[in-house]
Amino acid sequence: MDRREFVKLCGRCAVCLAAIQAPALAPQRPPDLKAEEGRIVPRQGFIRPFPSPYYESLAGGGVRCTLCPHGCELEDGDRGACGVRMNQGGTLMSLAHANPCAVNVDPIEKKPFFHVAPGTGSFSLATAGCNLHCKFCQNWEISQAEPEQTLNYDLPAKTAVEIATAYGCKSVASTYVEPTIFIEYMLELGRRAKRAGLLNVMHSCGFVNEKPLSDLCKVLDAACIDLKGFTEEYYKTMTGGGLQPVLDSIKRLKAHGVFTELVTLVVPGRNDAPDETKAMAHWIASELSPGVPLHLTRFYPRYKLKSLPPTPVETLLRLRETARSEGLEFVYVGNVPSAEAENTSCPQCGALLIKRRGYSTRIVDLKDGRCGRCGREIPGVFV
Ligand code: SF4
Repeated sequence: MDRREFVKLCGRCAVCLAAIQAPALAPQRPPDLKAEEGRIVPRQGFIRPFPSPYYESLAGGGVRCTLCPHGCELEDGDRGACGVRMNQGGTLMSLAHANPCAVNVDPIEKKPFFHVAPGTGSFSLATAGCNLHCKFCQNWEISQAEPEQTLNYDLPAKTAVEIATAYGCKSVASTYVEPTIFIEYMLELGRRAKRAGLLNVMHSCGFVNEKPLSDLCKVLDAACIDLKGFTEEYYKTMTGGGLQPVLDSIKRLKAHGVFTELVTLVVPGRNDAPDETKAMAHWIASELSPGVPLHLTRFYPRYKLKSLPPTPVETLLRLRETARSEGLEFVYVGNVPSAEAENTSCPQCGALLIKRRGYSTRIVDLKDGRCGRCGREIPGVFV
């Protein structure tokens, strides 16, 4: 299977078609996938159930899933709120293991990571399912689906890492939906990616329990976490989750030394109050670090919020200033063709370090993770 054939196969995933066409990565040595030919073909509802270690047995054959704060209690045959974890005869099985429905080579900036291997390709994948049910979800066709409803690849972690390497990617990314719902696959991807010299990264909602997150941190180089809002009410009404578990996860990532960027989708009239952004920025600066990058991204009408307008650009720029006034050093505006608000500048001397326009990235004056002009260290994972 050569690059063109693989991309063609991936192209059948309508959700990610645009992403496939975005990067202009130079193909390197083609993968030796002879043995895999005929297997890397998406099949409707392909599932290979995999036992999860994240559950407790209950009386009468029931189980309680311990992966996320929902703590679903499931009778035999029941499935959790994420749609991918099922009690099969008293064992909790993952139905989202090595069967991604979305596979792409993306610019890492699309995650969005702005301080992790800038300008490189990231082998990105997701299965069906999600443990949140955000009304504004941009990928609801797969996040709110069950694996039986999607076109899935039989893609073991070993093969995924081989393809990522062959394409010259610097990282493997678990993304598009809440990836911790396929944590057993993530762990295997992470182990193999690191052995192959690739970074292992995720874009997550952070709605995950302590033990699985700590297991993940052992094989994780960077995390991009959605901090969707800063009130419990917003999380409850808009996502079906909760704020405090997400804040706990972000602090745990810091404690484990995993480099983290944060993303807030600014929804007009829902989470765009300056006081909310001010409180969030204050928490980030005081509990984490002023150097944590924050992405304020533009909402476009999607899924259950089609009646709302897109976020005005002026709102994003105003909130950016609010966040900066609380001491945050790297606040970006996303989903907007706004050159200045996407660039990285040195917080010490103001030198332009990385210039971005859309997904085109140019390193201007960043050397070994430091400002080329004044030498100030820039937080991130620079390879
Ligand atoms: S991961 Fe799924 S099954 Fe487990 S507690 Fe969360 S929603 Fe429920």
